[in-house]
Amino acid sequence: MNEIIEYFSTIPSAHRAMILAGGIAFFWLIESAVPFFKFGYNKWQHAGINLFFTITTIIVNFCLALVLVNTAQWTVDNHFGLLNWLPEMNGWIFALVGLLLLDFIGAYLAHWVEHKVKFLWRFHLIHHTDTWIDTTSGNRHHPGESVIRFAFTTLGVLIVGSPMWMVFLYQTLSVVATQFTHANIALPKSLDRIMSYVLVSPDMHKVHHHYVLPYTDSNYGNIFSVWDRLFGTFKVLDRENVVYGVDTHMKPEEHNNLKNLLLIPFQKKRSPKTDV
Ligand SMILES: [Zn+2]
Ligand SMILES: [Zn+2]
Repeated sequence: MNEIIEYFSTIPSAHRAMILAGGIAFFWLIESAVPFFKFGYNKWQHAGINLFFTITTIIVNFCLALVLVNTAQWTVDNHFGLLNWLPEMNGWIFALVGLLLLDFIGAYLAHWVEHKVKFLWRFHLIHHTDTWIDTTSGNRHHPGESVIRFAFTTLGVLIVGSPMWMVFLYQTLSVVATQFTHANIALPKSLDRIMSYVLVSPDMHKVHHHYVLPYTDSNYGNIFSVWDRLFGTFKVLDRENVVYGVDTHMKPEEHNNLKNLLLIPFQKKRSPKTDV
């Protein structure tokens, strides 16, 4: 555990970049060899749009990084936050509890609020407009959403009282988990189902990308599936029946156009259909 803490306390930016790029390359190769859906799309053009949004997400997080680092340091210095108020525990348990709590506030709750607050949905919608979900879709976030998510991450760090090594560890796991759950691959169904008792599995997250309600408003989890199961937002839909996208924006000229995607939050609101 000490080695892990030491590594993530000072993880070089180059290593973080390598994990991100390496993960995309790894899942890209697998999904190219054994794709689950045979999309008739231009994979490179699609990746270009999604990588643009990945880069803007990195830039937003880079510009605001000092806020996060200072918040984490402040909680440690002032003995503030849930982790600091709990009784002393074994290092591994401490890390697991911390990761679970960060996952709850910084990811599950943030995601749930983005679906429930109409103004925030305008930005999160861009993630859902993708009709060809593959590993590059994982970080397809409008820059406005990246700011919203950053605010929730900072709030999570403050409430949880997590040291910076834990935040870096969480973010590293989150990047790989996201690439995995979006990759255009299919695990054996039984394996996917067993996995979904603990972690968000590819099938579980893809139900969230089904184009109509109520499925869009389910399976908000990021790394751990426990929060969806606990709060009753867990839904199952057979992988063959999942149709990616969001019913208000199914036209390729809208969801496959970078300029339009950037402008969607500022366009007239459209009402979704409720369907099964
Ligand atoms: Zn969502
Ligand atoms: Zn997604």
